[in-house]
Amino acid sequence: MKAITVEPKKPGTARYEEFPEPDLHEGSVLVEAIAVGVCGTDVEIVEGKYGWAPPGKSRLVLGHESLGRVIDPGTSSSLKKGDLVVGIVRRPDPVPCPNCAVGEWDMCRNGRYTERGIKEIHGFMSERWRIEPEYAIKVDPSLEILGVLLEPMTVITKALEQVLVVGQRAFWEPKTALVTGAGPIGLLAALRLSARDLQVHVLDRNETGPKPELVRALGATYHTGSVLDLDFNPDIIVECTGVGSVIVDSIQTVGAGGIICLTGVGAGGAAGLVVADVAAAVVLKNNVLIGSVNANKRHWYKAGKNLARADRKWLSRLITRFEKPENFKQALKRKPDDIKVVIQFSEI
Ligand SMILES: [Zn+2]
Repeated sequence: MKAITVEPKKPGTARYEEFPEPDLHEGSVLVEAIAVGVCGTDVEIVEGKYGWAPPGKSRLVLGHESLGRVIDPGTSSSLKKGDLVVGIVRRPDPVPCPNCAVGEWDMCRNGRYTERGIKEIHGFMSERWRIEPEYAIKVDPSLEILGVLLEPMTVITKALEQVLVVGQRAFWEPKTALVTGAGPIGLLAALRLSARDLQVHVLDRNETGPKPELVRALGATYHTGSVLDLDFNPDIIVECTGVGSVIVDSIQTVGAGGIICLTGVGAGGAAGLVVADVAAAVVLKNNVLIGSVNANKRHWYKAGKNLARADRKWLSRLITRFEKPENFKQALKRKPDDIKVVIQFSEI
């Protein structure tokens, strides 16, 4: 079969090549790949900045935002041939730490977890892949190709769960929510927040393209420019850019008793606010800054329900480009109007 592989930490080594069939130790369920979403982590791995091959191997099969069709359900009693499935990305660490021991691998304490297509387990950008039955999530068949959005939806399902849990520390009546960054994660955050009794605002640097209209279609307000120019103080900010200046502006703008959930990762950037200023801004308003990454099985389950409930036409507009596996390099190149780019391995 063919697969998109890379030698991690070595830029320029990605290629679409002949690769051995998936090994039975990767799981008893055999799946035919339909589509795999591309995200910033894939770009970082291909650029040699991140990623680990399986132990004893030099190359890693890329891809963690999967969608496939079951060819052989193996030992699974709940899956059957033809079912649409998505693979959970993270596996618990081998110790395991207390959180992994109770199935909260997204909260792993020792960092020894593994991740498909990222850290020591092959990903899903191969014509066929295998998975353990307990890590295969069945997708509502009516979602068809949109099932490939499940993994990004899990990330936001966990992040918003964290926000709501933290909100319960005191009497809390949030009215406004701001999402910074209108990429796939930001737009899915806006979708989920707008399902609640909240005025939702999305801020992004793009003034044209599909993003403003997608936000307005949710009944939310689209902003460009600086967070500091907003004429309100959000109760909730879901930060999806990882950009230093946006994070600093968010810390200064969030309302009293507010919650900022950071989902984006960057490095360096704005020096506008030094650490003691952050403390002053956060302490005096009882604000909470939380980081959120990954998702556990509960979030995958809930995300599947949420995705199946969402407006299909709106969801389909998040996928702005399909590429063939042989053109994967094009898929990894960001174009101005891209939201989610998907590599399609076979017809739905
Ligand atoms: Zn752990």
